[in-house]
Amino acid sequence: QKAEYAALKDVPARTRDRIDISLNINAGLLVDFARLHEIGADGVGLYRTEVPFMVRADFPDVAIQRALYAKVIAQAGGKPVVFRTLDIGGDKVLPYWGESHEENPAMGWRAIRMSLDRPALLRQQLRALLQACAGVELNVMFPMVADVLEFDRARTLLDLERRYLRARDIPLPRRVNVGVMFEVPSLFLQMEELLARVDFVSIGSNDLFQFLYACDRGNPALSARYDVLSAPFLSFLRTICRRCDAAGVSVSLCGEMAGRPLEALALIGIGFRRLSIPPPAVGPVKEMVRAMHVGEVTGYLDALLRTPHHSIRNRLKAFARDHG
Ligand code: PEP
Ligand code: MG
Repeated sequence: QKAEYAALKDVPARTRDRIDISLNINAGLLVDFARLHEIGADGVGLYRTEVPFMVRADFPDVAIQRALYAKVIAQAGGKPVVFRTLDIGGDKVLPYWGESHEENPAMGWRAIRMSLDRPALLRQQLRALLQACAGVELNVMFPMVADVLEFDRARTLLDLERRYLRARDIPLPRRVNVGVMFEVPSLFLQMEELLARVDFVSIGSNDLFQFLYACDRGNPALSARYDVLSAPFLSFLRTICRRCDAAGVSVSLCGEMAGRPLEALALIGIGFRRLSIPPPAVGPVKEMVRAMHVGEVTGYLDALLRTPHHSIRNRLKAFARDHG
């Protein structure tokens, strides 16, 4: 971390036209939590619960999970944490679960699909989360939801666990906010139903881009082929963001793109006010936020996105250079 970013730790991520941007971190290991305070992020916008599962030798039981999540809450020191339930499968494998052989693991038996097929595991995780957040707020979201009925089923399991704990007089969270990861394009066609059900939406742009463009996120032969800074993708994100705003549902974006200053500039320009990014990106993104003027960027992008540019990267770079 450069010294100049350390100086930004206690200043707000506020733009020149005085708009506050909430900058949160993506985390997985407890070491990430020291960074949360060092760099002055607002909270943890994505806690990938599968990460601690991946570095263990066996599947953790409820007591182990509860202790882990309680530690997460303690280390966050009152800053909000958004827990994502297990996103196992695809590129994230558990060493103790044996090999799976799928033709298309990214589109395979993963994340919420696995959790709904193994409801006991999801219920254990939700029970551990509810107990670990006793007396505080629990923010929990489900990954790779493709159909609102999957969200309903996951939510039903959460409600079952709440009732189970309440019946036993086990202390519950002060409040439970239930959200969804927006990373499968099919959700776009169910937005009204989705927004009526969720407390918040978190866009996983890594997967959303991969599935929208049918473009493997990890294939180096494709990495330069399509640009997240293209007019169609940004227009798509803008529409999702606006619909969430209109429904009064909090929306954030937690894919890797938000951690790059130029991409973050575009995201804020199209309407996002909450981002979740890798910890080392907080300094550079905050510096960019403090130098930007949302009104100018929004006006520029509104005009630019009317034509379907393959990439607006160079134009946006030039704009950023000319506008400080
Ligand atoms: C995403 O898909 O953008 C995301 C944040 O989830 P992950 O990278 O863990 O798949
Ligand atoms: Mg994802």
